[in-house]
Amino acid sequence: MDFADTPEDAAFRAELRQWLDANLSDDLKVDDAQDQRVAPDRETLARRIAWQKKMHAAGWVGISWPTEYGGRGAGFMQQVIFDEEYFRARGPILPCASGIGLLGATLIHWGTEEQKQRYLPKILSADEIWCQGYSEPGAGSDLASLRTRAIDRGDHFVVNGQKVWTSGAHFADWCFLLVRTDPDAPKHHGISYLLVDMKTPGVTVRPLVLLNGHRHFNEVFFEDVVVPKENLVGQLNEGWKVTTTTLMFERGGAGGRDHAAQIARLVELAKKFPTRQEPAWDDSHIRQQLAQLMIDAKALQVTRLRGLTRRLRGEPPGPEGSILKLFGSELATRIADFSSTLLGPYATLEVATEAVPDAERWAHRVLGARQYTIAGGTSEIQRNIIGERVLGLPRG
Ligand SMILES: Cc1cc2nc3c(=O)[nH]c(=O)nc-3n(C[C@H](O)[C@H](O)[C@H](O)COP(=O)(O)OP(=O)(O)OC[C@H]3O[C@@H](n4cnc5c(N)ncnc54)[C@H](O)[C@@H]3O)c2cc1C
Repeated sequence: MDFADTPEDAAFRAELRQWLDANLSDDLKVDDAQDQRVAPDRETLARRIAWQKKMHAAGWVGISWPTEYGGRGAGFMQQVIFDEEYFRARGPILPCASGIGLLGATLIHWGTEEQKQRYLPKILSADEIWCQGYSEPGAGSDLASLRTRAIDRGDHFVVNGQKVWTSGAHFADWCFLLVRTDPDAPKHHGISYLLVDMKTPGVTVRPLVLLNGHRHFNEVFFEDVVVPKENLVGQLNEGWKVTTTTLMFERGGAGGRDHAAQIARLVELAKKFPTRQEPAWDDSHIRQQLAQLMIDAKALQVTRLRGLTRRLRGEPPGPEGSILKLFGSELATRIADFSSTLLGPYATLEVATEAVPDAERWAHRVLGARQYTIAGGTSEIQRNIIGERVLGLPRG
């Protein structure tokens, strides 16, 4: 792969960098001391909605989406450049990130023309915020055993059941929801994929609080919720195919991208942080561990680029996205584990000290890293997918 930008891509990068420098104000910027995939409160959410609208008006949302649905119509490579530059500038995750990255991307492949016209532009303009209604108390890794039921009543479905771990449901206008429409069919063939207005009577959202204090996800209850038939995506009872597309987008984009920046911060910290009177950096074992983490971060970055070929052909991501998800989330926990070995009890402090001025960052890392090995499918499940669907090994 040629890592250099083409002249056209270089011009795109420069224009974007300039626009972000001029428009992304400090109060919007985030760093990894904050776990802000879901805005922490309504005020922040409102600021980020305004920010997404501003970006959209300037043509910076939905870079590779078709222009007829409000996208920029650029190639996938420019989407990659956008992600790199936006991350570098410390832009906040957009309030409609799961609408853009999961549902919208799925609808482009599976939606009817009416559904695309109806939903895609409002995702890009942040007029409608989405959440993902997949997991249930008895269906996580084995998602196809989900029990939320939708009964066909002619021109509509009636939905009853419960979802759990629904990120951002407390702010969402809409939910892409998996339901069982045929309880007698083999479990992968009785599922349908519905778009549900969260304001419909019978939808109840109850927040759950994370270990690190963030309000991130929820339980969502459905009691006799009426969903019009036109909100079905794909074929009735064949929603598993649509579900899998969404999961591939989720895993292909997961794993995190800020590992190298975190390791660089740990290097700086190790040069000052005293162990047995000396800076930790003087210990060759510490330096070796940091070098190994840096090598792994580089390997992940290059593996991500290797996977671009398929996307550049316009195809949705394949099961190989599980490699990025598995390696990236496990690397994040190894970085967190190393930081707690280095800092000892300081890794649990959430206030700055002279020895560790950014203690909050590391305390957050130690408490927060594990969640990425679970969200979007656990590490064990990613290993099974890599074994069976990427390497073609026999099923265990
Ligand atoms: C931060 C976060 C955000 C999330 N957001 C959402 C969301 O927005 N929407 C949504 O629908 N869900 C969401 N989830 C839920 C997530 O998808 C599930 O937690 C995940 O799929 C695991 O399911 P489970 O929690 O039911 O665990 P289980 O499936 O009960 O698994 C328990 C343990 O058993 C292991 N295990 C299970 N089956 C196998 C197997 N076949 N082989 C080997 N090991 C196995 C698992 O790896 C795990 O260690 C979120 C989760 C997190 C942590």
